[in-house]
Amino acid sequence: MTMATDLAMTVRAPRGSALRCKGWQQEAALRCLMNNLDPDVAERPADLVVYGGIGKAARNWESFHAIVRELERLGDEETLLVQSGKPIAVFPTHDMAPRVIIANSNLVGHWANWEHFHELDRKGLMMYGQMTAGSWIYIGTQGILQGTFQTFAALADKHFGGSLKGKFTVTGGVGGMGGAQPLAVTMNDGVVLAIDVDGSRIERRVETRYCDTIAESLDDALALCEAARREGRALSVGLVGNCAEVLPELVRRGVVIDVVTDQTSAHDPLNGYVPVGMTLAEAAELRQRDAAEYVRRSTASMAVHVQAMLDLQRAGAIAFDYGNNIRRFAADAGCERAFDIPGFVPEYIRPLFCEGAGPFRWMALSGDPKDIDRTDELALQLFPNNAILHRWMRLARGRFAFQGLPARICWLGLGERARMGEAMNDLVRKGELSAPVAIGRDHLDTGSVASPYRETERMLDGSDAVADWPILNALLNTASGATWVSFHHGGGVGMGYSLHAGQVTVADGTENAAKRIRRVLNNDPGLGVVRHADAGYELARKTVREKGLHMPMDSG
Ligand code: NAD
Repeated sequence: MTMATDLAMTVRAPRGSALRCKGWQQEAALRCLMNNLDPDVAERPADLVVYGGIGKAARNWESFHAIVRELERLGDEETLLVQSGKPIAVFPTHDMAPRVIIANSNLVGHWANWEHFHELDRKGLMMYGQMTAGSWIYIGTQGILQGTFQTFAALADKHFGGSLKGKFTVTGGVGGMGGAQPLAVTMNDGVVLAIDVDGSRIERRVETRYCDTIAESLDDALALCEAARREGRALSVGLVGNCAEVLPELVRRGVVIDVVTDQTSAHDPLNGYVPVGMTLAEAAELRQRDAAEYVRRSTASMAVHVQAMLDLQRAGAIAFDYGNNIRRFAADAGCERAFDIPGFVPEYIRPLFCEGAGPFRWMALSGDPKDIDRTDELALQLFPNNAILHRWMRLARGRFAFQGLPARICWLGLGERARMGEAMNDLVRKGELSAPVAIGRDHLDTGSVASPYRETERMLDGSDAVADWPILNALLNTASGATWVSFHHGGGVGMGYSLHAGQVTVADGTENAAKRIRRVLNNDPGLGVVRHADAGYELARKTVREKGLHMPMDSG
């Protein structure tokens, strides 16, 4: 680590097998926190921003240093509590308890809005944790790449006979998460135009091979895309521009588009979405000077943007909302039919949730890519019949650079997750991996989130806004012995629109870890299956029966 300013510094997680903490459970939390802030991982590390607008890993640099200090000291029978990115206390617990418990950005319902949050943030009382930013298990753009690949694969299955070959997708936003879109489309053999108002974001995606090229103009971009589409060649093209300008222009020109979606940071109208007609510098200046005017302009632009998506939908494109809450803000700003665009979860993801499948991920704490190679082999060998996993691994391995500590993600279901976790713990025990592995997941998972415009949109029984489930999830993961557990508000879709939980469990090769892994990796997705069964999904009820889950009031 090198000092930059006073307390701010360039952070990079330690590598290798030597410990700075008293055990691997604590060391894993330390390395994952630091990895979140690695300049190769985080979008704006100097501000502690990891991804997703202002999603942070710690409240401020003072808090970051205090967390590091406490983790270095923390015993095997102690638990560190973190409140919105600030370490507030260490309590005596026991050796199966989480080493860290985190609560980020939570507000009482009536006050659960951006205005109140920003007020508290300005006073230094809170931070926005997004999902894996404040819970220390962001793995760079690969994390979302697999989910995005899976979503476009499901879309291709549903609408285009299993491939995007010869199909043209248009999307916005190539930031920390949205940056996965160009590669996810080309991995499904399609052509994509990805628009971002910030050229440096597109350049970063080209450098890391997530996007093939940057176009000089809209004409240039359309020519490149059309040629590739005609030849059935996969291609991703970045274009610097504002979606609220470029999309209406595509409508005006009558360009034929097969799929349209968006991942600008619309969930945060003040910090995440740039109003039409402004340079980045002008936007920054207005944001500082007159926040209310900024929000008025950005949401008005969203209304224009979404109206253009609706026009493209009417012209035959498959349109879907990609979890950034743009429909809500657009509707509030006058785009009445915004919700004619369906959300991606009910369209493509829910059947997977009903089987307890979700974004399982792991990180090699050694920093050695060979450890990920070995675990990739393990996954391929353990799940010979999981066709998507095999396809994903074939395409993903070696295709893109790791960011920070080497990591892998693949969607695994109930039963599969625990098998994989226990087998990785065995590899650590036998010395086949050079250091332990941190096993976690996104908060966007089967039983861990209530988010009526995303993960729980249009639930069968209307229970979209019931937030008991993610609370039960966090408590169950704590009782089951996850290494760290987090409960957040506002991730993905912004303040007032989501509550969600996360867990990370460390495979350090010990029997203690084996017990934690077995319980957490069965119970965590198990609750997701139960949540969907309780809502009446037949596929989830079938999974309950097949996996022998016990639901006292559901005879299946
Ligand atoms: P980010 O802040 O890193 O990137 C957003 C990008 O949008 C930036 O590059 C910005 O320049 C660009 N942008 C803003 N306004 C624009 C405009 N008017 N026109 C064109 N580009 C514009 O955010 P991220 O981490 O990439 O996340 C993007 C969004 O996706 C967030 O709202 C996030 O909550 C949501 N999200 C969805 C999922 C999912 O599974 N679908 C997962 C995580 C995040």
